[in-house]
Amino acid sequence: MSDDYILTTQGLGKDFKGFTAVGNVDLKVRRGSIHALIGPNGAGKTTCFNLLTKFLPQSRGTMTYKGKDISHMKPADVARLGLVRSFQISAVFGHLTVLENVRIALQRRRRGDCFDFWRSESLLSQLDDEARSLIEAVGLKEFETTLATELSYGRKRALEIATTLALDPEMLLLDEPMAGMAHEDVDRTAALIKRVSANRTILMVEHNLSVVANLSDTITVLARGNVLAEGNYETVSKDPRVIEAYIGA
Ligand code: ADP
Repeated sequence: MSDDYILTTQGLGKDFKGFTAVGNVDLKVRRGSIHALIGPNGAGKTTCFNLLTKFLPQSRGTMTYKGKDISHMKPADVARLGLVRSFQISAVFGHLTVLENVRIALQRRRRGDCFDFWRSESLLSQLDDEARSLIEAVGLKEFETTLATELSYGRKRALEIATTLALDPEMLLLDEPMAGMAHEDVDRTAALIKRVSANRTILMVEHNLSVVANLSDTITVLARGNVLAEGNYETVSKDPRVIEAYIGA
C-alpha cells in the first residue's frame, strides 16, 4: 500500500505559542497524482506546506517521503531526495535572459561538472540543448533571449517552474501557482502544470477553485488546521461541511 503513496503524514501538527495552526493531519499523496490542498483563509495550508518542506519544524507527527522518514531532515536534504518546492532553491535573476536563468539552474544540479562545462564546448552545447528543451516545455520558447525582468508575471512564474524542473524533482510542491495572474496566464499555467505532472507528483495549494477542479485528482480540504474532507472535486464540492466552512469563513 505504502508504495502507492509518495508522501504521507501521520498526525502532523504545529502550534504557535499555544495556538494550533495545524492540528492532526494525516495526508496521503498518491504517486503521479495532482493533489490539491484547499480551505478557507487561516485553515493551515501554508503552515502545512512549510512543515512538508521542513521550513518549519512540526510540533507533533511524522512525515514519510518515498518510504523514508523525513520528519527531522533539513530542507536541503529533503529537496535532494526529490521533494522540491517551486521557488525554494531556484531564484530568477531579472538581469539575465530566460536561457541564462535555466542554464544556471541546470548547472546548479550538476555542480560537480561545472568547470568541465566551461572547458568543453560539447558539454556546453549539451547544457544549452537541455535548457532549451525545458524552456520549450514551459512555453517560453520565443522568450529565450528576453530578460527575466521583462517577462509578464505569469511567464516569470513559468520560468521559475523551469528553473525548478532543472533540478529534476520527483515531487513538486506549488504554493498558489496562479496567485496574482491574469486570466490568460492562468490558463497557460494550468496547461503547464498538467504537462509537468505527466512524469511527477504535484501537491499544490491553490485558491482558484476552477483550476483545482480541472487539474486535481485528489483534493484535501483543510479547516481550522484539520482535514475536513478528501476526495475528487465532485465529492468534496458537494460536501455540506465544506460548503459550510467556505461560507462560514
Ligand atoms: P492558510 O494558508 O490556510 O491561510 P496559515 O497556515 O497561513 O493558513 O495559518 C493558519 C493559522 O495559523 C492562522 O490562524 C494564522 O494566523 C496562524 N499562523 C500562521 N503562522 C503563524 C505564526 N508564525 N505565528 C502565529 N500564528 C501563525
